Amino acid sequence: MFKKILIANRGEIALRVIRTCKEMGIKTVAVYSTADANSLHVRFADEAVCIGPPASKESYLKIPRLIAAAEVTNAEAIHPGYGFLAENAEFSRICQEHNIKFIGPSPDMISQMGDKSTAKENMIKYGVPVVPGSDGNISDLKLAMKVAEEVGYPVIIKATAGGGGRGMRIVREASDFKRNFDSARQEAGSAFGNPEVYIEKYIENPRHVEIQVLGDRHGFITHLGERDCSMQRRHQKILEEAPSPLMTPELREKMGKAAIRAAETVNYEGAGTVEFLVDKNNEFYFMEMNTRIQVEHPVTEEVARYDLIQNQIEIAYGEPLRNRELKIRGHAIECRINAEDPEKGFRPSAGEITVFNMPGGRGVRVDTHAYQGYRVPPNYDSMIAKLIVSAPTRKDAIAKMRRSLEEFVIEGIKTTIPYHIQLLDDPNFISGNFDTNYLEKHFKFNPNINTP
Ligand code: ADP
Repeated sequence: MFKKILIANRGEIALRVIRTCKEMGIKTVAVYSTADANSLHVRFADEAVCIGPPASKESYLKIPRLIAAAEVTNAEAIHPGYGFLAENAEFSRICQEHNIKFIGPSPDMISQMGDKSTAKENMIKYGVPVVPGSDGNISDLKLAMKVAEEVGYPVIIKATAGGGGRGMRIVREASDFKRNFDSARQEAGSAFGNPEVYIEKYIENPRHVEIQVLGDRHGFITHLGERDCSMQRRHQKILEEAPSPLMTPELREKMGKAAIRAAETVNYEGAGTVEFLVDKNNEFYFMEMNTRIQVEHPVTEEVARYDLIQNQIEIAYGEPLRNRELKIRGHAIECRINAEDPEKGFRPSAGEITVFNMPGGRGVRVDTHAYQGYRVPPNYDSMIAKLIVSAPTRKDAIAKMRRSLEEFVIEGIKTTIPYHIQLLDDPNFISGNFDTNYLEKHFKFNPNINTP
């Protein structure tokens, strides 16, 4: 097995990787920007290397510094976490060239899946159902409008290099098309350095259901069931659960097979997630494949009883996956606790955490790099903790999450805990009656309700 791994990331995911490495007897190297010197991922790694100033571009995204840090510490492998360079084919390639194992797929697999319209074309070739739309990218307005007419309004214009819910435009009628097409291309160009967009039928009120897959170097690919990520604000997930409340064993089998086929199109190696939209008739459509560990991976870990980071490391080392039968046990929910003020339009709320009391008890897991006295830097993603609970049924899991949120006391900064508490009390959430538009269109956060 690897003797030492460098984690090219920060925050909770860096700590998450360190934890598994320790359990596997692998030494760890943390990297950090000057803004993160006091983060727990630095404290708990065996070694830590400062890689630059707060700006991500000068630190966590600076490939030469990461490679140098791995070389001076003799790390044999790099775990990229999520975000930053996790889906950067160039980084995967440079690691390869320096004889450092990138814990993730090959540069080729990353680029084939990372370009969303190319990935979609591949899926069509292999018979994975996709949302009807354009054949690849379209830059010509006239042609684009013709496609929109053909698939039928409403349509969604999506950036081929997109991510994090950005660069998307929903268009309901032809007269709005030009304006949205131009602004989508512009936003994609400035956000991703690639203005290319493609067009899809806009699926009304879908569920976002994604399948976790694992593939090893020996050609074996398996799936670990689904996560429901329909609870979104601005196309960003905020609460995830496994299994999906709408899932049936038949649909799981069908979607699992489709996800494996999707991964097979590139002979996928590593942990990956195949994202689908599911419509009211339980028809499902491939959206994209993420070639990394995801934020919401713990809900799968809890119900399928896997350590996905361990799987990633073993796969990267070349070990074959064991073919074990998938048994989903119980129900797991994750709430993303962000340093944001839900009363003020989710404005980021950086600063010092003066009180930090974590919930505990049976079936409660908190993945966080924060602690009492920790300063949330303003430079990065606002997620400061993930609260994950598991219980025998969905109803039990909701009750456990509800009480855990109340126990989770964070003072000094604003967080999304009060928002989650109200969401957990919402009758539509409780009954499983929601889709990707539910939070923004129907759920109203009430700032006047005093939650502890
Ligand atoms: P990103 O990579 O930016 O997260 P995705 O392609 O995963 O983008 O889409 C993010 C979200 O946008 C989905 O979870 C869904 O809510 C919405 N979405 C994307 N495509 C469609 C579509 N064709 N119809 C309806 N909603 C969509």
